[in-house]
Amino acid sequence: MKYVDEYRDEAAVRRVLDDIRLNVTRPWTIMEVCGGQTHNLVRFGIDELLPKEVELVHGPGCPVCVTPLELVDKAIALAARPDVIFTSYGDMLRVPGSREDLFAVKARGGQVRIVYSPLDAIKLAKQNPAKTVVFFAIGFETTAPPNVMSVLNARSLGLKNYSILVSHVRVPPAMHAILGSPSNRVQGFLLAGHVCAVMGYHEYPPIAEKYRVPMAVTGFEPLDLAQGILYTVRMLEEGRVAVENAYSRTVTLEGNQPAQKVIHQVFEDCDRAWRGIGVIPGSGWRLRAEFAGFDAEKRFDVSAIQSRESPLCIAGQILVGMKKPHDCSAFGKECTPEHPLGATMVSSEGACAAYYRYGR
Ligand code: SF4
Repeated sequence: MKYVDEYRDEAAVRRVLDDIRLNVTRPWTIMEVCGGQTHNLVRFGIDELLPKEVELVHGPGCPVCVTPLELVDKAIALAARPDVIFTSYGDMLRVPGSREDLFAVKARGGQVRIVYSPLDAIKLAKQNPAKTVVFFAIGFETTAPPNVMSVLNARSLGLKNYSILVSHVRVPPAMHAILGSPSNRVQGFLLAGHVCAVMGYHEYPPIAEKYRVPMAVTGFEPLDLAQGILYTVRMLEEGRVAVENAYSRTVTLEGNQPAQKVIHQVFEDCDRAWRGIGVIPGSGWRLRAEFAGFDAEKRFDVSAIQSRESPLCIAGQILVGMKKPHDCSAFGKECTPEHPLGATMVSSEGACAAYYRYGR
């Protein structure tokens, strides 16, 4: 197949769903890691077309959702400084901090700009030498290559007024945390195709083996999603533990090695806090010491900022598959996309936003 429409062909998707129905004999709980997958599963109604034996739970792979509240508050503090132009992808602007969001700072006249790439932030830094441009570098392995490239670019240009506020997290340590928890109920995983496109999927077989959980590398179109579920259900039914690639048009075992090289040139592993979940050891990246001059947290003193989550928000339990958005008492009441209490209701990849938007 060549065109995206072919991966949205209803008859082809229904055939794969029929195949799942033929294969399944007992209940299974499968987690899709990525928030983009969650949205498409709900948007195209695949979650409702699956046989009742297959339950999907939604994973932590929404970068906006897992960015810790404390870092959102630090972003807001930086954006409010008169000497800073704060740049971010649009999704982050409506994420509630402890008291307000980045939009509120922008409304008060703060220099908050939406950019589509960190390279746009570099351009702003060149155009505004009297200000420091800070880019909110959030995300998983997928967004790391452009973010580290922006740092290398700034260094080669000799730009002293550019820095990044880093909140980078990685999928494999989060899977260890989910699967190693006594409350885990995930029996199979749909791996995030775009993360694997960058990093390959060689890190996952040891995790699958350790926890005896099969996994399928899965894409984002309806046919990709249905095939990822079919691969996982087949392995579960056969009692087979493996990592299969249902997205081979994009993903290889080794991934994009030049991208991995440049990531490791600029970032090193560190412990990271995940919003609502807590600190997961070795789950993040930070700038290496030689790039400390580009680290917004080192350049500006924001270390005293401490934050507290809304006591109503159960997003942390949703992100590890223990609960669903409609289990939250605030869903659609105190918490809506217009008045969100948590990031999962704001992000275009958040599970609460998907359930709200598509009427689950
Ligand atoms: S509905 Fe709102 S308050 Fe409830 S878990 Fe989702 S984001 Fe948090």
